[in-house]
Order: sequence, then C-alpha cells, then structure tokens
Amino acid sequence: MRTRHDCRLCGSRELPKVLSLGSTPLANEFVSADQVGKPQDRFPLEVHLCTACGHVQLLDIVDPERLFGNYVYVSSTSPVFVEHFRRYAHAMLHLTGMPKGSQVIEIGSNDGTLLRFFQEGGMRVLGIDPARTIAAATTQQGIETIPEFFDLKLAQHLRAEGWEASVISANNVFAHADDLHTIVDGVAHLLHPEGLFVFEVSYLLDVVEKTLFDTIYHEHVSYHTVKPLIGLFRRHGMELIDVIRVDTHGGSLRGIAKRRGGRFAKQPSVDQFIALEEASGLEDPQTFQRFFARIQDLKMRLMELLHRLKTEGKNIVGFGAPAKATTLMFHFGIGPDLLEYIIDDSPWKQGLYTPGHHLPVVPSTALDDPTHRPDYALILAWNFAEAIIAKHKAFRDKGGQFIVPLPQVEIR
Ligand SMILES: [Zn+2]
Repeated sequence: MRTRHDCRLCGSRELPKVLSLGSTPLANEFVSADQVGKPQDRFPLEVHLCTACGHVQLLDIVDPERLFGNYVYVSSTSPVFVEHFRRYAHAMLHLTGMPKGSQVIEIGSNDGTLLRFFQEGGMRVLGIDPARTIAAATTQQGIETIPEFFDLKLAQHLRAEGWEASVISANNVFAHADDLHTIVDGVAHLLHPEGLFVFEVSYLLDVVEKTLFDTIYHEHVSYHTVKPLIGLFRRHGMELIDVIRVDTHGGSLRGIAKRRGGRFAKQPSVDQFIALEEASGLEDPQTFQRFFARIQDLKMRLMELLHRLKTEGKNIVGFGAPAKATTLMFHFGIGPDLLEYIIDDSPWKQGLYTPGHHLPVVPSTALDDPTHRPDYALILAWNFAEAIIAKHKAFRDKGGQFIVPLPQVEIR
C-alpha cells in the first residue's frame, strides 16, 4: 500500500479527512480452504475531500494487481445488469447513429456483457480488462479482450494497429483507477474526432443521501461528482457534454464526453448537476459528519436486532457476498459469532471463504436444508433484496425470514 498526498484530479494538497470507517481487509479478497484461519492484511478506509476541486477520494492506494488481477465478479450473473447494459448499448447506438462496422472499445469490459450488444448491432468490438481469467474466457466466447490495464501507452499501441473508436466506454472504472489522467489521455488518443466517450460512475450524491456507505471500499478510490470531472476532461482536450442519473449500484451517473470540437453539443444537464451538487453541500465537511451519524444509527439498530435474535437461539446466515458486504460486516462488527455462513449463487465464489472473517460461501440450496434450516437470512446484497425475497418464497413459506440492513433495517 502507498499513500498519496495530492488530489487525484487536480493535484491540490488540501485534503482534509471527512470520514473514517476503520480498517478492513480487501473487499474481494476471498480465500481458499488452506488459508482459513490465517490472518489477512487490513487497510485503513478513510475518505478525504479536496477543498480545491471538490473531489472525494481515498488516499491509501492498494496495488491494483492485487485488487483486480484475480477479480471474480462477472456482470452476466446478474440479470439486472444484463438488461441495464442492453439498454445502454441501444441508447448509444441511437445517439451516435454510427454505421455498422464502427469500432467500439470498452475499458474494464469484464465478461463483455455490454460489448456483446454492440457486436449484435454490427459493430467491431474490443474489450480491455486486467482480470486475466475473465478476459481469456470472454475472448474464447468471441469478444476479444486484452488482459491489461488501460493507459496512454496501450492506447498508442492500439491506435498504431488501426483502432480509432466511434464509442469508447468505461463503466465502474473511474472509481477504481488511481491514475485517471493516463486513462483520459488514452481515451482522447484513441477516440475518433467525432466519437463519444461514455462512462458510468457511482454518484457521491446517492452514496450520501441514501447512506450507501458500504460502496466505500479500497477498490473504489474515487467517489465522483460532476464538477471535478469537468476539470479532468478539460485538462486532456476533452469536454463533458451530458450527464444523466441511472440507478445502477444504488445510484450512478452516466457521463458523455467528446474530444474538443466534436460535432455533439453540450447539454444543459452539466450545469444543472453543478447547481444540484452545490445545493446538496457535497463540498462541506459537515455533510459527511451527518452522513457518519446516520451510519452509526443504522449500525446500532441492526446490531441490536442481530444480538437479540442470537440470544433467542435463532440461526442467522448471510445472503449475498458482494464486495460491499466486507465494509458492512467490518464496520458494523458482523462476524462468525452472528452468521454461520454466506449464501452466494456466483459459482466463482462458492467454496471460498469471505475476506477476514472466513465464513464459508455456499449455494442458496442451503436455505432448504431440512436438517439445518436457518431462521433468518441477512441480505448483504441488499440492493437486490426484492429479487432475492421473490426468488426464495419457499424459504419464507417454511417460516424463514429475511433481514434487510439498508437503507433501513427491516424484517421481511
Ligand atoms: Zn482536487
């Protein structure tokens, strides 16, 4: 780990700490059976605000190879994301009106869920993603994916090979990268002069307003707002021309940028977002003090409930092992004393053990185990609570109950 002392976007060194969530293991560092019981590294989880440009960020940086080289999350396991990306691709095809055969490149393309829709629309697609196993599997399935981190050097290499994309996309990448300058430089280099760069990032305003504090973990080094991003693009000869809110990850922004002088016009949305962010106090440290107070209130309510159920002799398990569960479990103090195991239907995670606590990850058939049926399942993937509850009706019919921890503690 290393600690930076300047703002990731503007370079200012005025970076007061506005939130501290203690220390946690890496959110996606699941371990195999032979590692169980061995201590795992923990890293401080502290959020800083740049008083010069307003960018909210972590300054403690974990080696990206350690974070992303063995990444196990795949988008196509979630029907919600597949549908999101289908609409996303169609919106961009409609907006650009690009002819068949145009080039589309995605940075952080994961298993090619988005690119597949562009490919079906007749476009020539290329994925870039450092998760080697997923990249190899995706290439095998017909979407060429380069297993590397995207930077200016890779952009220059691709440009020399004849790539000049009509659309470059990067989703949930801007939150992950410590060096955003080389990414935007690379995009500007690889984008057709009339092309568009489209990206999605989790939106800090949603994180704060809906108390989505569990999206804060070491992979996410930035918590974006519109205003600081305008300056980032400007520095690299680009212009942010449109922003909309989308509901991915509890609330995200989709931004569209172009190379300076491109044919698309700047929309009023950009200035509207700046006004909204100012009115919401996102550059005021007191906003984060109130945010922390709400987190502590939720913690108290949930922990009271879990301890009471445990005292009554109930069996409780966790449902869902997303990265965010690590922040939630460590900040609240939910460990093996409260949960027996964690259910997750991703085959990439089953058979592994959760970061730090080493709870086994098992398939959802465990809910139906007649010899040891849990009384309560705490939904750690709470953003999918409705879908999970609907799918596991049988568990409730037999007397089981779900606990939803956020945005409010509820028993369902
Ligand atoms: Zn700054």
